[in-house]
Amino acid sequence: MPELPDVEHFRRFFGDHAEGRTVSAVWADPAIVRNATPQGLGRALKGRRFDDPDRHGKWLICWTDGPALLLHFGMTGDLVWSGDEPRRHRHDRLAVGFVEGGELRYRNMRKLGGVWLAHDPEEVAVVLGPLGPAALDLRRRQFAGLLARRRGGVKAALMDQTLVAGVGNIIADEVLWHARIHPRRRIEALPPWERDRLYTELRKVLRVSVERYHDLPGMRRWLSTVRGLPGAACPRCGTPLARTTAAGRTTYFCPTCQREGGPAP
Ligand SMILES: [Zn+2]
Repeated sequence: MPELPDVEHFRRFFGDHAEGRTVSAVWADPAIVRNATPQGLGRALKGRRFDDPDRHGKWLICWTDGPALLLHFGMTGDLVWSGDEPRRHRHDRLAVGFVEGGELRYRNMRKLGGVWLAHDPEEVAVVLGPLGPAALDLRRRQFAGLLARRRGGVKAALMDQTLVAGVGNIIADEVLWHARIHPRRRIEALPPWERDRLYTELRKVLRVSVERYHDLPGMRRWLSTVRGLPGAACPRCGTPLARTTAAGRTTYFCPTCQREGGPAP
């Protein structure tokens, strides 16, 4: 499922292929365009030139010199450039052609996620809904303030997009493993030094996932590399990983490094 690092990768990909280019044609599957018709989307974008796109949490916000195209990748979304794949695929739901040549496509096997049109920042805010600050831009004091007002499970908090935007299931497990915090511990039970470490590890995991995006499948001392593999052991201490449900999602953790009762005295 696309998480913040994936969407950041899409942001760069979109920018590499679309920034500074002028839209010549738009084709869209009506099932994926959420707040316009494919024709309306085409009318709004044709002749417009794309800027460098923004990301907020899991949203990609692609401003032109007129309206913005908003993309959400759901569980299976992807971007494809016609130079890499000349032929359209049956799961391509949106194709944007450019005057300068080439076509950028939004591909989604399932129809979760989608494509929205927004004419100004207020419309963008309405489509995105209530979102917390972007996880990558979060400052330490801001994070401490958010946690101070929050009760309940720490994993649920990390994944709550209205608290912090951009952390999904896999990143949440990765962060908690690095911070050595059990995913079901309650925020109000975390002492200040653990909240501080949570922030440090959140920043580190997000930064590394974005900067080393293509290296992630082989990362050592990284939970996601072994997560879900049969017989997987903690990359730090070798204890077999445990699986549970936290925040309604399948969760992996190390029962030695991440003790449910908190760190050993
Ligand atoms: Zn361990």
